[in-house]
Amino acid sequence: MRVLIVEDERELADGLARGLRREGLVVDVAYDGTSALIAMGASDPDVMILDRDLPGLSGDAVCSTLRGQHHPVRILMLTAAGTLDDRVAGFDLGADDYLPKPFAYVELLARLRALGRRTGGTPGTVLEAGEVRLDTMRRTAERGGVPLQLTPKEFGVLEALLSARGAWISADALLDEVWDIAARDGEEPRRNVVKATVHTLRRKLGAPDPIESASGFGYRIEEG
Ligand code: CA
Repeated sequence: MRVLIVEDERELADGLARGLRREGLVVDVAYDGTSALIAMGASDPDVMILDRDLPGLSGDAVCSTLRGQHHPVRILMLTAAGTLDDRVAGFDLGADDYLPKPFAYVELLARLRALGRRTGGTPGTVLEAGEVRLDTMRRTAERGGVPLQLTPKEFGVLEALLSARGAWISADALLDEVWDIAARDGEEPRRNVVKATVHTLRRKLGAPDPIESASGFGYRIEEG
């Protein structure tokens, strides 16, 4: 599970990060709301621990921004004021859970684990090769932490190449898998569709080009 801690009290944020890393979680930290939104694009966490009281962009604003974007991240909101009104306001903004400060670390951990289970993000849904990362469940792809805006066919081709784990995939196999077209020998126009899609996919992936191509073999992306 990947967690982003958003908390301006650095000692608390860093202490939490150390503790959660010891639990085997992948943890990133942001010390203000604006950095939190930038970090969201880069690290794609399953759960965000979001302090409500942040300088600049508030926790509420971060939460409603993400929900406005229909971002699937689960949000556990922390606040110093644990009143019922605050609790309701937190849920209204789209927080998934709410924890008043001060809290016991074990309680935070329990809530975090519960939210992690609800994300449905099993490890098998993320395909990776080098800097390229694709989440089959969320239908998102990124390179070096930068999100890629792919068409469904480009996404399908990238998914097929990453799933092959370094093996070659022919244009005909891609036609079959991504376009659901059974290609017969000699159907160049259809293979050209694959070629064109790989071309735009390469352009979006940027340099260095992770896709290898070889005539007679097709395409592949080397693992690692
Ligand atoms: Ca704070």
